[in-house]
Amino acid sequence: MYGHRVRIPEKYQNQVLEKLHVGHPGIVKMKAIARSYCYWQGIDASIVNFVQNCSARDREELTSKDKSTSVGMAKWTLAKDTR
Ligand SMILES: [Zn+2]
Repeated sequence: MYGHRVRIPEKYQNQVLEKLHVGHPGIVKMKAIARSYCYWQGIDASIVNFVQNCSARDREELTSKDKSTSVGMAKWTLAKDTR
């Protein structure tokens, strides 16, 4: 299962991140794709950092995730208050 995963040297990590990020898949998908065929020390942090620095669609994904979390919390508080 781990036999096909390639350890990426530090100088190529950014190129790999750029390739993984084609189409702006978002953090979760990027991690899944990366794990299936390559790895390095701190790859998860690198992916999170890369996506957060992306100026395109990922920002919408990050923002909408924040929104859905706060909406969920607001609903939970409301339900608790009405009981
Ligand atoms: Zn992006």
